[in-house]
Amino acid sequence: MKLPSHLTIQNGHLHIAGHDCVSLAETYGTPLYVTSEDRIRDRFRNYHQALSSRYSQIQVLFAAKANGNLAIMRVLAQLGAGADVFSSGELLLALEAGMPAKKLLYNGSSKTKNDLALAVQHGVKISVDSLDELHQLDGVARKAGKIAEISFRVNPALEVPTHPKIATGLATSKFGIPYDRIPAAYKEALSCKNVKPVGIHCHIGSQILEVEPFARAAEVMVRIACELSGLGVNLEFLDLGGGLGIPYHHDSDPAPTPEDYANAVMPVFLAGIKAAGITPELWIEPGRFLVADSTLLLTRVNSVKSAHKRFANVDAGFNLLIRPAMYDAYHEVIVANHADAPLITEYTVTGPICETGDILAADRKLPELASGDLIAVLDAGAYGYAMSSQYNGRPRCPEVLVHGNEVALMRRGETLADLTCSMVRPPWQQ
Ligand SMILES: *Cc1c(COP(=O)(O)O)cnc(C)c1O
Repeated sequence: MKLPSHLTIQNGHLHIAGHDCVSLAETYGTPLYVTSEDRIRDRFRNYHQALSSRYSQIQVLFAAKANGNLAIMRVLAQLGAGADVFSSGELLLALEAGMPAKKLLYNGSSKTKNDLALAVQHGVKISVDSLDELHQLDGVARKAGKIAEISFRVNPALEVPTHPKIATGLATSKFGIPYDRIPAAYKEALSCKNVKPVGIHCHIGSQILEVEPFARAAEVMVRIACELSGLGVNLEFLDLGGGLGIPYHHDSDPAPTPEDYANAVMPVFLAGIKAAGITPELWIEPGRFLVADSTLLLTRVNSVKSAHKRFANVDAGFNLLIRPAMYDAYHEVIVANHADAPLITEYTVTGPICETGDILAADRKLPELASGDLIAVLDAGAYGYAMSSQYNGRPRCPEVLVHGNEVALMRRGETLADLTCSMVRPPWQQ
């Protein structure tokens, strides 16, 4: 199996950025999320470089929902990233990680007045998703005595090649304002006293392995930008969203690079802004691409069983990594303590959750397994821990970060007490 450069096999053990996964699992226990900080730095620089070599005004906004650990967001903040935030919680995480408010965009199709007020209070720009929200925001900003800077989220009505649950720019999607009603929305915004339109935003979906759909989205966006400058809107930024996918099937998926993305998108963007006579910042919002492959989920085999097929029952399930159950997603698995043994037996790797769908990896050729073996689930850094739960009464596992020779916890494991700490006994049960 093709491995990215931070994953190596030495003496039969899988290593991440030079650290032996077998020792990490002994030290911290399993299940365990392990992230290479240096890999995230490389991925960010790679993305940023591909765009900034073609246009000087680039701002990368990390999609905070992909991984909300402060240690990770802090690394990205240091590198100059802002964030796409989708809740008050993500907004506060991004600020706490050291991302300046001016590099944040508050997205989302369903915000409360309190969410809007928080963004206004911190001077965070808001991507407005409806005219109803526009007028609510105008009221919130008036009360606060502020001007809210906004973009509208455009629904470009584009079909994209990805799982339907993560295609977000379809004509039928819940997100954004249909592209043909966008000029009217900006006219409305211009008539609001406490709102100032300064940008335009779209996001067509996630885990997209072709670059051509991004070019089509860029085309729609620059066309609208041109029309808007005719209306007197001064666009300071044009945000093309995130969505560049990663090759979860290491040996067979296409692996578009930021360079491929830039080659497809930048000519369209540059020609479009030239035609419009504007020079906005170009914002992009990658999540998965920056963090997915930096992280392994290490899980121990509890037992093996031969039934109608062979099962390896491990200690992590969809409580910790829901992507296989939720999106039929594929993740490569490696037996970390026999990483160079021949792949001779087919196993289905199943978690400890009381559901038939709790399968991490189906029908994989692996070395012969026994209880105590250690399995590494690859590419678990995006939408992994971030989507975890305590389902089935399972405290979440710890997360560790490796950086050079160092290893440290970046989130402790939850305890059984964490299961009950937010529960309140109703008075009649005292
Ligand atoms: C999820 C999301 C992203 C990031 O998507 P990735 O596929 O992880 O790059 C960016 N922008 C918005 C608005 C999103 O909802």
